[in-house]
Amino acid sequence: MVMAHLAAIASSAGAVLGSFLNVCIHRLPSGQSIVWPPSSCTSCGTRLKAGDLVPVLSYLVLRGRCRYCGVHISIQYPIVELATGILYAAIACVHGPSLAALHCIVLGSLLIVAAGTDINTGLIPDRVTLPGIVIGFILSFFSPEVTPAQSAMGILICGGLLYLLAVASRGGMGGGDIKLMAMMGAFLGWAQGLLALFIGALLGSVVGIAGIATGRLKRGQPMPFGPYLAAGGMVSILAGRFLLSLLGF
Ligand SMILES: [Zn+2]
Repeated sequence: MVMAHLAAIASSAGAVLGSFLNVCIHRLPSGQSIVWPPSSCTSCGTRLKAGDLVPVLSYLVLRGRCRYCGVHISIQYPIVELATGILYAAIACVHGPSLAALHCIVLGSLLIVAAGTDINTGLIPDRVTLPGIVIGFILSFFSPEVTPAQSAMGILICGGLLYLLAVASRGGMGGGDIKLMAMMGAFLGWAQGLLALFIGALLGSVVGIAGIATGRLKRGQPMPFGPYLAAGGMVSILAGRFLLSLLGF
């Protein structure tokens, strides 16, 4: 019962935070402020009121259109809100009310912004990953999940490995992916960071091969890798310790 309450609170908080992550996804790539001005319709410019900003529900009630000008609102908004709510609830269930849960929520939020910006623009802004690396390292001094030494090794090993992969793939992977992986290493430590990379590469390969097989993706066509790395990071957040124990770590 306690767990159900915790999951309900976490999912509501996640949906509200998800609205803010949407703002980050849409404003960070162009260098805009994420705190000012308040949200407005990107088409007619009308400032949105509280009733337009209820996570997921506003989108459903307004049937995906702006209340003022009727323009279509991207499905990405409710998806990000829903995904953040689900992720926070899952973290609360796995880690309970703890510092470890907070640690995972910070990383999970950064991963959602990184994946969203990569899908929209093909780039992951340094304004997400560079502060993320620093925050991950600082949190390692307080987290029961990872030590500062593991965090520092995570930055070097995960970032370094991606750098080598980027050189080998000759542009298949970019600097954004390198910094994203270094950030995950900072939060997760090198072992769970490498697990996240492995899962991300596996997911990316499966989707890439399926895309080529069904003709949706041409051979050699670039595909953003960030969302798969982020998905690997989320699996690591929720089940990394369990998966590594299966491997004998
Ligand atoms: Zn509008």
